[in-house]
Amino acid sequence: MICHDCQSALPDLLLDPASPSNAAARAHLDACAVCREEFKSIEATFALLALWKAPEPSPYFNQKLAVRLREEQAIAPAGWFERMRARLLFNTGRQFRPALAGALALVLLVGGGTFAGITGSYHSHKVEASATVEDLQILDKNDQALQTMDQLLQDDSSADDANTPPSS
Ligand SMILES: [Zn+2]
Repeated sequence: MICHDCQSALPDLLLDPASPSNAAARAHLDACAVCREEFKSIEATFALLALWKAPEPSPYFNQKLAVRLREEQAIAPAGWFERMRARLLFNTGRQFRPALAGALALVLLVGGGTFAGITGSYHSHKVEASATVEDLQILDKNDQALQTMDQLLQDDSSADDANTPPSS
């Protein structure tokens, strides 16, 4: 057994010294002073952790918590609405970033061609097929884009599904 393997086996050896699967590590420890030192230091760390006690909570913690809880419950309806409003207002940067990115990508993909078609500057050179058909296609694309935007706004958890551009 090499030192690297032995040192990754040291925690197991400490927790279950008699296990037959640790025989190789035990044999290596007898022969290698470096790993023996490492084992002793892990042993000391575990001993220290065993001595550690969680600090006691401050006196009357439960009573204070119950009072705070009752206060919060009393103002819950207004507080909940306020929290939701604040969340929508201020968390846009973090939570809604994927949805916004998807919506912007859709605007670029679908809306870019659509707006150019409306102004006539981009599509004017290939209108010769049928202006009516193209207008209907533009309306259809607009409708799809609006539906996708609605989905993004209504349910941001399904934003990943809506991110794929609609097949035209
Ligand atoms: Zn070693």
